Amino acid sequence: MLLLPANNQSPWTGPTGNNTYLLKGAVPALVDAGVGDPSHLDAVRSALGTASLARVLITHNHPDHAGGLPAIAARWPGVRVIRFGDPMDEAIEAGDTVLRPLHTPGHSPDHVCFFDTRSRDLYCGDLVRTGGSIVIPASKGGNLRHYLDSLARVRDLSPRRLLPGHGPIIDDPIAAIDGYRNHRMQREEEVIAAVRGGSLLPEQITARVYGPLSPVLTAAAADTVLAHLVKLHDEGRAFVSDDGWRLT
Ligand SMILES: [Zn+2]
Repeated sequence: MLLLPANNQSPWTGPTGNNTYLLKGAVPALVDAGVGDPSHLDAVRSALGTASLARVLITHNHPDHAGGLPAIAARWPGVRVIRFGDPMDEAIEAGDTVLRPLHTPGHSPDHVCFFDTRSRDLYCGDLVRTGGSIVIPASKGGNLRHYLDSLARVRDLSPRRLLPGHGPIIDDPIAAIDGYRNHRMQREEEVIAAVRGGSLLPEQITARVYGPLSPVLTAAAADTVLAHLVKLHDEGRAFVSDDGWRLT
């Protein structure tokens, strides 16, 4: 497995941009597409040597993970795209190994992880990353209950490593997963305290929980706060009326 950065650096995607992973061997396969940056595709081509790319596996359809598909199809016209919503085999041949797809909604409804049944590595997309947090965008299909459930199911797999869509490879999956779960639980307590303290709207709660943020980050943080409120609502612990959110 070869980590090839997609070269789409940004505050969201990280200093080297998204990670893509090339599995060379009998069925050359790329996990996530990047954004079609020519130098990324050149790196894929030179790593493949004389082989042709057979498959692209997509963890989810956010543009930083799937935007490069047309450029990849133009370079390797025979390539097969494997993603949620298309018929997906229980066992996907990739490189010289077999990957098992695992539907892991939460960050997005269509999020899939791929578990290498031989090495026990898990290609985890935007389920977990280090050096940055995962946004749960409630207004764009994010769901915090589903996310926490997905984390628990991945934890039960006891993966050897997590290979994320952003940031470094994670050598201690259980610690990273538990860190995420604890972080979300702590945020939930902070959201509850903010509502109890009289903040009724996601923007007000965000200001109280996060403090001052840049405008770009404020929108994403407010969307994650909304995800917390929706979770509390679904659990019967909060409700929303004309003037905003309240605890039951
Ligand atoms: Zn994403």
